[in-house]
Amino acid sequence: MDYKYVESAPLSHTAEDPFESMMVRFETAAMLLDLHPGVYTYLKTPQKQIIVAIPIQMDDGTIEVFEGYRVIHNDVRGPSKGGIRYGPDVNLKEVKALAAWMTWKCAVVNIPFGGAKGGVKCDPAKLTQVELEKITRRYTANLLDVFGPERDVPAPDVNTNEQVMGWIMDTYSMHVRHTTTAVVTGKPILLGGSQGRVEATGKGVMITTKALMDKLGMNPKQTRIVVQGFGNVGSIASQEFQSIGCTVIAISDVSGAYYNPKGINILDAIKYRQTNKGLLTDFSGGEKISNEELLELDCEVLVPAALEDQITKKNANKIKAKIIAEGANGPTAAAADPILQSKGIHVIPDILCNAGGVTVSYFEWVQDRMGYFWSKEDVFEKLNRILTEAFTDVNKTAEQHKVNMRIGAYILAIDRVAKTLKMRGIYG
Ligand code: NAD
Repeated sequence: MDYKYVESAPLSHTAEDPFESMMVRFETAAMLLDLHPGVYTYLKTPQKQIIVAIPIQMDDGTIEVFEGYRVIHNDVRGPSKGGIRYGPDVNLKEVKALAAWMTWKCAVVNIPFGGAKGGVKCDPAKLTQVELEKITRRYTANLLDVFGPERDVPAPDVNTNEQVMGWIMDTYSMHVRHTTTAVVTGKPILLGGSQGRVEATGKGVMITTKALMDKLGMNPKQTRIVVQGFGNVGSIASQEFQSIGCTVIAISDVSGAYYNPKGINILDAIKYRQTNKGLLTDFSGGEKISNEELLELDCEVLVPAALEDQITKKNANKIKAKIIAEGANGPTAAAADPILQSKGIHVIPDILCNAGGVTVSYFEWVQDRMGYFWSKEDVFEKLNRILTEAFTDVNKTAEQHKVNMRIGAYILAIDRVAKTLKMRGIYG
């Protein structure tokens, strides 16, 4: 029997790449679960990897051929779900890792989806809207047999948005000869999108953090929050934390970080950003500091909501927060995990903390299939229930296995997928 993963799992703690980090955690959890080697190999292997050529006539009349990918990591729990990203560095290896990430995230929140991811290697900054639309439509047409409400359901990711999802829905619908809104999520509300999708991830960050604060007996009124990244996730999370009585003492974006120990007025910051090309440059609501300094501020909750690999073995020792709430995907390198743990810092892992987004995407798919749409209040009430249950499940699992919340979340997810697989059986 091949127990290779058992040997590699007691972490070298050297992984600094977000996908390597994810694999290190997956392997640790698989080892603790004592997963059968065959099941381990099954869960590590993507079910389908597709590469498509996307020939496009550019605006200047020339023809260019782009490369597109779609990876279905696993669909034993339901149709596969995962975003599509556009970018010059998109490649199959990255898409494969992100697809696996989605399998675990959907399983943690116990929604009936598997994991997938897609991408097109292109530079959106150099493309016109017309060219972007052509790429999107041809990519969709090439993957017509893969996508489908019962098969594989894409969503937005880096450099794709509501409009791109609308083009995917329209292209798919044209080919199948009827409007099929449930083929993709993250659509504009007019095209079958869900109320509350915009707020979902930031709200989920607050819901999971508040659950941990309650568990630790922390009073929101005495809780100082620091948020890295002031985009969709960071700005909504900041608002949500303020609404429960916490004080957001620092925020940041690519322009730098802004610190005010008395509390930043988040509504002012959002308004300022809206009139300032989406950036906080020269924001006067706080003293300007660097993003590195922001991460090391004295606070109760640190919310990395910008990029991958922000907390590494280099700065983990300097983090003073009591809780790290991972709004971004992969903001903590695996190499930092043992340092944070030795400092007694509680980390709410990304696959739980930011899963509010995929949860409301699931609601969008459900509503599209029913043809009946919920109010924002309904969406938030259901989101709250799912995330609170997931938080409880993760903590129970972590306590049972005497591990931190991150490994607890991976154990819970892998166990759910492995049990489903066992009950379905292996066809072959
Ligand atoms: P966004 O593009 O709306 O915002 C990103 C923010 O990060 C911007 O304010 C940007 O200026 C800032 N930023 C970029 N580089 C920075 C740096 N070096 N230092 C500080 N700030 C920096 O993106 P988003 O949708 O808010 O996503 C943020 C993270 O959350 C990503 O990791 C994303 O994958 C993850 N996530 C998003 C969702 C969602 O629903 N939007 C769901 C799950 C996970």
